[in-house]
Amino acid sequence: MARYTDAVCKLCRREGMKLFLKGERCFTPKCAIERRNYPPGQHGPTRRSRRKVSDFGRQLREKQKVRRIYGVYERQFRRYFRQAVKAKGMTGEALLQLLERRLDNVVYRMGLASSRAQARQLVTHGHIMVNGHKVDIASYSVRPGDVIQVHDTSRKKGYFKALAEEFGKRQTPPKWLSVDPEKMSATVVALPEREDIDITINEQLIVEYYSR
Ligand code: SF4
Repeated sequence: MARYTDAVCKLCRREGMKLFLKGERCFTPKCAIERRNYPPGQHGPTRRSRRKVSDFGRQLREKQKVRRIYGVYERQFRRYFRQAVKAKGMTGEALLQLLERRLDNVVYRMGLASSRAQARQLVTHGHIMVNGHKVDIASYSVRPGDVIQVHDTSRKKGYFKALAEEFGKRQTPPKWLSVDPEKMSATVVALPEREDIDITINEQLIVEYYSR
């Protein structure tokens, strides 16, 4: 599948907020949002202050933000939305929960990667196991009870050897994941809830976008 290959910092500048797409760099002064917090393009510096945003525009931007944070294409995002509509409870929350349960997101959340893009690569390159079996599908949806860990052969690789030193200290995993630093593994102890998803977005706008 084709992937977005342009400079990802432009996506943050378009949304006017940090989407944390580049790992460590996002926490340094080199972050493009710290240096140039205006939309990309020739007229970027003047555009934001002049622009009046319609309801549709706000809904679209919110949808794009979430899609970009999780690195999901439109078609797949729509599929998640249709699934969320059928789920119990609030559609917006169900949508976020489905995205949060993606295996690439879990690998990122448990601290094996510094960004979701890197986590996706670890998964697709076959470094991750779920319940003892290799799973190389980034969109694989985890369930309570699943155990996610680094593949035995991959643990000997330089990246994971270096990571082992700081694994568990790098970031605080959400409470729905129980992380074992010794085994470099995580167990899904519950389904993620809205309060566990630390993204500043209004998911209701996404529901309105698709309900037009
Ligand atoms: Fe976004 Fe990270 Fe680039 Fe900053 S460094 S603009 S947060 S991707």
